[in-house]
Amino acid sequence: MKYRKFGASDWKASVVGFGVNGLPVKGLEIDEGRSIEMIRRAIDQGINFIDAGDRRYLSRYEQTIRIIDQALQEGYCDKVRVSVGLPVSSISSAKDLNRCLNEDIKRLNRDKIDFYFLAGLDRITWPRVQEMNLLNCLETAMADGRIDKAGFSFHDHFLFLRGIIEGYDKWSFCRFRYSYMDSDHHPGTAGIKYAAEKGLAVITDEPFLSGRLLKKLPESVFMTWSEARISPQRSLAEWGLLWILNQSEVSSVLIDMGTMEDIEENIIIADKSGPECLTIQELLLINRVYDCYSSLKAIPCTTCRACMPCPVGIDVPRIFELYNEAVMYCNRDIPTDMYKLEGHSIDLCNSCGDCVKACGRKIPIPRCLKEAEEVLGLSNN
Ligand code: SF4
Ligand code: SF4
Repeated sequence: MKYRKFGASDWKASVVGFGVNGLPVKGLEIDEGRSIEMIRRAIDQGINFIDAGDRRYLSRYEQTIRIIDQALQEGYCDKVRVSVGLPVSSISSAKDLNRCLNEDIKRLNRDKIDFYFLAGLDRITWPRVQEMNLLNCLETAMADGRIDKAGFSFHDHFLFLRGIIEGYDKWSFCRFRYSYMDSDHHPGTAGIKYAAEKGLAVITDEPFLSGRLLKKLPESVFMTWSEARISPQRSLAEWGLLWILNQSEVSSVLIDMGTMEDIEENIIIADKSGPECLTIQELLLINRVYDCYSSLKAIPCTTCRACMPCPVGIDVPRIFELYNEAVMYCNRDIPTDMYKLEGHSIDLCNSCGDCVKACGRKIPIPRCLKEAEEVLGLSNN
């Protein structure tokens, strides 16, 4: 296993971290026995960083925490550090943060959480963090030893990342969704470089976009990969992971693993990784794949959010983002689930046209929203 510096700290993280969202299931529950075995196998192979997820889906989260607690008994605890997230949208005060943190520590059976992060920061939730005084609360928890390091996860335009990083000097790490399809996106490579320059450890997740970059490829993407005459030949997972680890600013990539084979495969790939491990030719091939996917977008929306806020609360950029993902990755399941979970609806749109006037790309937004709803709203019926 290879390890990288974790921001300004002395600790080094394994370049691949263990994400728990793919743990094997038995019936409707996570298969605890197999999951414990998998976590221990990953640690035996050198993985020293586990993400426990966050409490958005509380019952699954509680089961996951219990599994991690059991997996880390019998000497495994000292070999690994654990991160836990708290979605800012799930709390309404600093008191809530304290309560959740204390519950997490108790459930994990530990004295402290190694890496505690505020999940889901963006231009809307960051002001709420300040209003609720959560930063003071994190500081107290670090001072009294309940948290070792504090961080955040973020999904928004790069410009808003600056304010968050500059607005608090005790952040130790940050976490972004990042794949070769996210290079210019929320916050993209610019955000990763900026965070690393400021001394934060950068953790990334979703390297394969929940498997969408590995399976059911669109024809043009499939042809681009298969016609490439580049040696050595690589698997799709290898291209995806090496592209991220080609960048020295990334400390660790969290991968949701569901089988022992996943662990073995990711560790083999990690061992081939390194800053600038890909050649110019290889990077150009990945750029071509990126262009193929991008050309499939249904709406030419850049998610710049210039059209926001909508007077009736419709999140136009997010709906277009989900719609584009449904079309580009030939997989409607994830975007339709997200559309439903995030509670989107276009019912209140009265075609006032405010958003259209603000859109530099002159997208006929009300009409496109209807198209998006036809695709994404299917699972709501
Ligand atoms: S046209 Fe619809 S989506 Fe656009 S601002 Fe008006 S109500 Fe909101
Ligand atoms: S202003 Fe136009 S391009 Fe920007 S997010 Fe809104 S719809 Fe998309």
